Amino acid sequence: MEAYLNQLEEAKKRDHRKLGRELDLFSFHDESPAIPFFHPRGMIIYNELIRYWRAEHEQEGYEEIRTPMILRDELWKQSGHYAHYKDHMYFTQLGETQFAIKPMNCPGSTLVYRNAQRSYRDLPLRLAELGLVHRHELSGVLHGLFRVKAFTIDDAHIFCYGDQIETEISGVIRLILRMYRTFGFNEVAISLSTRPKESMGADAIWQQAIQGLEAALKHNKIDYHVNEGGGAFYGPKIDFEVTDSIGRDWQCGTIQLDFMMPERFGLEYVGVDGKMHRPVMVHRAVFGSVERFYGVLVEHYGGAFPLWLAPVQVKLATISEKQAEGASAVHEQLKAAGIRSEADIRSEKINYKIREAETKKIPYVGVIGAKELETNSVALRARGGKDLGQVKIDALIEKLKEEIKNKA
Ligand SMILES: [Zn+2]
Repeated sequence: MEAYLNQLEEAKKRDHRKLGRELDLFSFHDESPAIPFFHPRGMIIYNELIRYWRAEHEQEGYEEIRTPMILRDELWKQSGHYAHYKDHMYFTQLGETQFAIKPMNCPGSTLVYRNAQRSYRDLPLRLAELGLVHRHELSGVLHGLFRVKAFTIDDAHIFCYGDQIETEISGVIRLILRMYRTFGFNEVAISLSTRPKESMGADAIWQQAIQGLEAALKHNKIDYHVNEGGGAFYGPKIDFEVTDSIGRDWQCGTIQLDFMMPERFGLEYVGVDGKMHRPVMVHRAVFGSVERFYGVLVEHYGGAFPLWLAPVQVKLATISEKQAEGASAVHEQLKAAGIRSEADIRSEKINYKIREAETKKIPYVGVIGAKELETNSVALRARGGKDLGQVKIDALIEKLKEEIKNKA
């Protein structure tokens, strides 16, 4: 009971809507209900997340694509979204033609696949897309960044054949877990959802797919629970749920096999036998919704972002106006080294400046007085008040760069 009450208390303090306002990260406006406006500081975090995501995906052999946000009605009829998802979609008309604003990235990626003749040698083809989607939700269920009407899925569609499923899924699992660890999400609950009663596709391919998923999980020595019959009607899936710093669980990543969409869009590849075959399509996301993951991170860190994500990484605070010029020069030096610094040269008391940096949860404060100016150093303080003593500017730059590089 006590632990639960503590968690509630902590959750209130960490509410990302409150911190988003206090740290000037994002806002919401009636002019576009439930769609976030990211501010300059908030965009720094957003872009760092994307930069990290791109680097990881590039390393894993993904190729990035971008597909249109507005696509003709016919496409959504063909994909089945019109029949099953229409109430959650936005539409627009251009001239005589009816278009839908994409609620998912998959149909667009099938058009890229189909744009060339594919052979078994081209597979697996890993097409990644940071796709902005719009989904109409009832306003009652909206909650800050956790449920918005427009968000970016850190999507990828892997086109492969049956024998490749295990290796591909294995790669995705390792990527997801590695990326979660970077954020300190070491506790991840994984579930495997199998064939539901109402589903499509031959038994043999379902069996092969589920065996592939199971083998990939076992190969990575992963504990998981089986959600019997919980898969989508078009294929089985694996879901990832992370536990945050105060013990709450968040469903984020997912890996879904899909036999339906390749069928509906007539996707093919030339096999070893020279005949045409259907590829399997894997839909997968690490963050899920980037916006929601962002909200989870704000609460997980309580706004105290690690150095690599912090909008301002170090604040330089002068003791008197005599150090204004020197502090500005240090600021330029840090900026040139790729470090996000801010020089506070106002004629405020130093304690006031330090307190303000604490409120803004800035990782480091470098105090510059007469002595520091003379020795080309700062009196360094870490967030939370830890005194790190006098540090030369060169050493400070090295220290910060190292910490940023390691995503410590
Ligand atoms: Zn998809």
